[in-house]
Amino acid sequence: MLQGKNAIVTGASRGIGRAIALELAKQGANVAVNYAGSETKAQAVVEEIEQLGVKAFKVQADVANESSVKDMVKQVINEFGSLDILVNNAGITRDNLLMRMKEEEFDQVINTNLKGVFVCTKAVTRHMMKQRNGKIVNVASIVGVSGNPGQANYVAAKAGVIGLTKSTAKELATRNIYVNAVAPGFISTDMTDELTDEQREGMLSMIPLEKLGDPEDVAKVVRFLASDDSNYITGQTIHVDGGMVM
Ligand code: NAD
Repeated sequence: MLQGKNAIVTGASRGIGRAIALELAKQGANVAVNYAGSETKAQAVVEEIEQLGVKAFKVQADVANESSVKDMVKQVINEFGSLDILVNNAGITRDNLLMRMKEEEFDQVINTNLKGVFVCTKAVTRHMMKQRNGKIVNVASIVGVSGNPGQANYVAAKAGVIGLTKSTAKELATRNIYVNAVAPGFISTDMTDELTDEQREGMLSMIPLEKLGDPEDVAKVVRFLASDDSNYITGQTIHVDGGMVM
């Protein structure tokens, strides 16, 4: 499905990003594994991908830092020769009730989760415009559609990502660059492992399919949006949430 394609997945050393990187590689794509934190984990993902018979390398960059993202994109194009797919997955949470939320908690989340998508998209766009071909997939969140108490910063960022997806899709469509998003619901990762039993129970009661999702559930939809099978879809946000928000 993705034979010969070259991809960057941001925040790919664990969780949903790792699953996306592996899923794209299983379909034949070469993958640059972006990371900000643990080099060891990123290296482990690279080795797993190489075992699938495609190329991979790790590349450190803070997605919110324009110069480090520009370097990352340059490095990927040097290494792979071209760049066809960008998956904007990196994200953080700094949850707090509005009245307790500090300015820096708001700024950190907006910077990584929203500005990061803008910076990475801008950095790949010139190259994709020249080759008149590209797939950009943004990882939003279902709370960007529904809202969530205690997550004003995160929800604002993810709602922003959904808007950014629509705007860039319209702007880049004539150049054959597709921009779509996935909005995961509650997915079992380090991010959701921190929940208490009570929070988990409350969550399950809101999900018609009565289960949390797996990172692979999200990765398979990203793979579809990164492939030619989705060539009449742009500007959309696909909910991967067990039916939680309809
Ligand atoms: P995670 O914390 O396991 O992974 C996030 C990754 O992003 C980590 O590898 C982290 O190092 C990386 N990262 C953070 N800041 C970065 C930066 N500035 N530059 C580069 N990388 C950075 O979380 P996850 O659950 O795998 O989440 C992945 C994405 O899915 C996030 O965008 C998150 O908001 C979104 N999401 C997750 C869920 C869920 O239930 N887990 C639900 C909806 C949306």
